[in-house]
Amino acid sequence: MALFCGVNLDLPLLPLPTAADPADATAPRLLIVYTGGTVGMAVNAAGELAPMELRHLDRQMPELARLPFRLALLSLPQPIDSSNVAPADWLFLAQLIGRHYADFDGFVVLHGTDTMAYSAAALGYILEHLGKPVVFTGAQVPVGANRSDAQRNLITALEIAAARHPRAGTVRVPEVCVFFNDELIRGTRAKKVESQQFAAFKSENYPPLARAGIGLEFADNSIRLLPAAGLKIHETLEARVAVLRLFPGITEAVVSAVLQVPGLRGCVLETYGSGNAPTAGWFLDCLADARRRGVWLLNVSQCEEGRVVQGKYETSARFAALGIVGGDDITTEAAVTKLMFVLGLGVGEARTRELLATDLRGEISP
Ligand code: ASP
Repeated sequence: MALFCGVNLDLPLLPLPTAADPADATAPRLLIVYTGGTVGMAVNAAGELAPMELRHLDRQMPELARLPFRLALLSLPQPIDSSNVAPADWLFLAQLIGRHYADFDGFVVLHGTDTMAYSAAALGYILEHLGKPVVFTGAQVPVGANRSDAQRNLITALEIAAARHPRAGTVRVPEVCVFFNDELIRGTRAKKVESQQFAAFKSENYPPLARAGIGLEFADNSIRLLPAAGLKIHETLEARVAVLRLFPGITEAVVSAVLQVPGLRGCVLETYGSGNAPTAGWFLDCLADARRRGVWLLNVSQCEEGRVVQGKYETSARFAALGIVGGDDITTEAAVTKLMFVLGLGVGEARTRELLATDLRGEISP
């Protein structure tokens, strides 16, 4: 179910009035891409929050007019609740950014919070050698409502997208990231951890890239360096993947049902602690059978901190021999999208294994 599929890439851009002189070629040019999410929602006739068009962002956020940037808004024709996002939508978003890459200095993607971490991780893989900021943000309370966090999140996300190193003048954050509630998080490290409070995201196993207080403090040493090569936009993702979360009492019927899904190409195994799993014969047989059928298995811990160390315990000793790839300290969100990305490359057994085990976009720590 890809919602943006079939949408023409030539969507109109709506210039937003700001404090920048449109003729001032030095004022940063930023593009806001609105995809949907609570940020732009309103209560529908049935009393439910539903995505709406965001045509009057400048009226709902008069503070935009004070920004010293040249701003444009690109709204997707049918904004979505991010629970409906699909891999094809990520490819579309990447193409959209590619279409406008040369004309803007940075991009802010307004997106629902529910799957923002998946989308940011996916775009991180798809946009290889990214040299400009792509900052995902959204809100827990719609922009039109009292006490909305939209203003706070969007204004700072725009400032981050425009940020340059003070002396060198180079791009400060050439990464796909998530800005939310005063923290800038690498896309491949983001996790939604809260549905009721404003602090919705956590940076897992990696420090935030920046914090917004009275000033904006960038952790420059944690930000990936500018790539030497030009942007490469990948065009394929392998969507036939699954996640199998272990729990005490999980049965053979459940494990084999997941691993025998017709056409399955990869599965994230959400294991315990440092990558541990049951040693029962039927369990290992299910994994071995999946491997024989060419299903890639990526071992990711259910713990929010720490890392997978296959072979540390007897309970993961057989994994390496079965060809299960240890995910180190990767998040489930970054692992699912990494499987889709790497399997989508279609590069053969040895290279697939190497890529799955390698840090591609800052998703695992050495
Ligand atoms: N359900 C919404 C979405 O992900 C939640 C949000 O945006 O905060 O689109």
